[in-house]
Amino acid sequence: MASESTTNSDKMENSTVEPVEPESALETARRQLHHAADHLDFDQHIIERLKHPKKVHEVTLPIEREDGTVDVFTGYRAQHDSVRGPYKGGLRYHPDVTRDECVGLGMWMTWKCAVMDLPFGGAKGGVAVNPKELSTKEKERLTRRFAQEIRDVIGPNRDIPAPDMGTDPQTMAWLMDAYSMQEGETTPGVVTGKPPVVGGSEGREEAPGRSVAIITRQACEYYDNDLEGTTIAVQGYGSVGANAARLLDKWGATVVAISDVNGAMYDLDGIDTAVVPSHDEEPEAVTEYADTVISNDELLTLNVDVLIPAALGNVITSENANEIAADLVVEGANGPTTSTASTILADRDVAVIPDILANAGGVTVSYFEWLQDINRRSWSLERVNNELETEMQAAWDAVRAEFEEQDVTWRDAAYIVALSRIAEAHEARGLWP
Ligand code: GLU
Repeated sequence: MASESTTNSDKMENSTVEPVEPESALETARRQLHHAADHLDFDQHIIERLKHPKKVHEVTLPIEREDGTVDVFTGYRAQHDSVRGPYKGGLRYHPDVTRDECVGLGMWMTWKCAVMDLPFGGAKGGVAVNPKELSTKEKERLTRRFAQEIRDVIGPNRDIPAPDMGTDPQTMAWLMDAYSMQEGETTPGVVTGKPPVVGGSEGREEAPGRSVAIITRQACEYYDNDLEGTTIAVQGYGSVGANAARLLDKWGATVVAISDVNGAMYDLDGIDTAVVPSHDEEPEAVTEYADTVISNDELLTLNVDVLIPAALGNVITSENANEIAADLVVEGANGPTTSTASTILADRDVAVIPDILANAGGVTVSYFEWLQDINRRSWSLERVNNELETEMQAAWDAVRAEFEEQDVTWRDAAYIVALSRIAEAHEARGLWP
């Protein structure tokens, strides 16, 4: 267990040093914080405080494999800031999960919840494991053991996990069950992104993709581009990419490229996005439906109006930022653009709508789910989608106002909205003792 440290010799302490790629999520998050802080007039100790997580929990997870042997995995829960409410953020099962990655992603959750004006702080966690190498039973054992090890630091009023890369509603159902069994009472509000049958919300799975689509629509409108004539390339056809692509297709845009780990399907006449199965429907099948296959790298530099990276972090880098031909990038994934690439794109006048706004539909519907759990009353899909539309519109308006007033990038504008709310809360609560 590590805790806050202001003498931490982390290599990103001085963000004026030129960034070196590949950048960790923590490096990118701290650089972005520094960049935005230049436009804000707060007590420096608040910015200093926000560079560090409040607590990081590290646990070891011995799991019995199908063949009877035991493997030990490492799990983390990084709790970044809770000034506005309980910690909130996903759990990721991925081989690249590290302490620093969880801290960086936890920082983004703090900003994301604040930009949406949700009464939550930010956290992120995960296990360094390749979920593709686990059987369903092994995944269940891992999840239940992880729930047990972090039980004392999570809870509906303390820290509320949710799905992220490599985890899904079933993972959340196991987590909720393990927690509830130990508490002696069913506690649906301890996690969000559960199946609706155990207190999950209608529309939660689709929500991050829906918010990406809503924000893309708003940005196109802002730049006077009719969705009807707009061409779009989407990297990743998982729950974010596929839902965003399908909605934008439905709203009249032409989706010319979609992809998964095997490569991209490219069709200038427009892809029928409903026909191609998403990762959840049939994993890694996109290229089987394609007449023309291109690489993921080629997809990123296609001459389209809008590029939506909705797969991994760090895909737009100094290597390809000069080749990005889209006028607008909408970040569906968390952290798809490195700091250097952000600077290059800003210099080239490519508008980048940041992840903390664009994919915030996920955590927003998580908030709706949490409210439904507390009240023991579920909302209709129509209500969820209407309220999500209202929240996204309000966040877009707040960010757009800063973008216009301060003449900054869209990312800085979103940070200014989020940091102002967080810093005001810190100022009001004060430093204790
Ligand atoms: N993992 C999602 C994200 O990165 C959702 C988090 C949540 O719902 O708490 O935004």
